[in-house]
Amino acid sequence: MGDLAFISEFPEQASWLEISQAAFVHNVSVFRNAVESQILLGCVLKGNAYGHGFMPCLEILHGYVDLIFVISPVDAFKIRKYEKENDLTQKRVIVLGVITAEEAVRCARKVIEVVVGDEEWKQYIPILKQSEKGTGNSYRPLKAHIHIDTGLGREGFTLDNLTKKIDFLTKCTELIHIQGVMSHFSNTEDVTEQEYAFEQMAKLNEAFDIIEKKFSLNYSLEKHFAQSAASLVIPRSRYDLVRVGISMYGLWPSIETKLSAKVVLNVLPKLMPVLSWKCKSQSIKTVISGSYIGYGCTFRADRDLRTALLPVGYYDGYPRLISNKGYVLVNGLRCKILGRVMMNHIIVDVTEATGDETSVVATLIGSDGKESVSAENLAEWAQTINYEIVTRIGSHLKRLVID
Ligand SMILES: *Cc1c(COP(=O)(O)O)cnc(C)c1O
Repeated sequence: MGDLAFISEFPEQASWLEISQAAFVHNVSVFRNAVESQILLGCVLKGNAYGHGFMPCLEILHGYVDLIFVISPVDAFKIRKYEKENDLTQKRVIVLGVITAEEAVRCARKVIEVVVGDEEWKQYIPILKQSEKGTGNSYRPLKAHIHIDTGLGREGFTLDNLTKKIDFLTKCTELIHIQGVMSHFSNTEDVTEQEYAFEQMAKLNEAFDIIEKKFSLNYSLEKHFAQSAASLVIPRSRYDLVRVGISMYGLWPSIETKLSAKVVLNVLPKLMPVLSWKCKSQSIKTVISGSYIGYGCTFRADRDLRTALLPVGYYDGYPRLISNKGYVLVNGLRCKILGRVMMNHIIVDVTEATGDETSVVATLIGSDGKESVSAENLAEWAQTINYEIVTRIGSHLKRLVID
């Protein structure tokens, strides 16, 4: 179980996460090896770094990647603050989400790149113009990536009338510097044949040509499309840079992606999950045969059992759908969840896993001895995907960085 000395610092009522630095570094190297060396490696830190904890993940990854993607400008400002406080060279940071005009002004000042995906941006021009006046000659144009909706139906300009829709951007290049053109895949994870992705790529290529022609720039625009799955299984989609989210955290986007990766890359890259989720039991007791356990009396002991009460529940992001279904690990053995997952508690069967100890450490995600329980296991029990399992782990829980 390793050194548990730190546990005394943790409140008895809370579970905690362990974030493995070594696993992160390993996953970065998987992508550095899989992707051509001239292609920039970007990591996505949205959703509280997929639930892993924004600041700890930023601190680990900052030195290893070429670009950092976030959804909210607030996170981008945090990155600039962290760099300043620690005397670090600024990384390129790209805000993927929608921002306000005021945020756009702040992004320009802090050299944070943004994404322009609709004609709302017309209204931002006078505000950027105003801020330019205030800065005299030191104004730095806001670097922007034009988002094209090639078939996800989410953000971005669709191809119809694209020339007309982006016309306003050609008239303010001293305020907004077009840095790149991007899109986002819709179903690369869900399939092993990528017809739809190829159609999306054809559309991005078409849009890219239209934009390049329209702006007649004296520099080359960046083109980017690939998230984790496409970076691994559609080499042509890597273009100038990749935007790796889930797999940077050591998780596969899907079984289909894993199957395809083996075919496309010849060998299956070994991703290492970065996150483990643990807690210390609050009490262990004997429950006699015939007793009920948990709300709704959904579980009844058919023999005498030893049960452990664990301080984790749906408030912490442990899904209620796991009630009576999943297991946790204690002393290297699987221990079934008995009854319903509650707001702040679960009860597990430790009859086989414990002797006379009064307290144990349980692993909710991670490994213990020869056994492991993965985010994918939880996702299956809770009828969802690993993305949702990790992202919903409560931000109130302590994240502990380990080697
Ligand atoms: C979330 C996101 C990614 C990363 O996706 P993963 O599947 O987690 O790798 C890349 N690009 C955009 C635009 C995204 O929103």
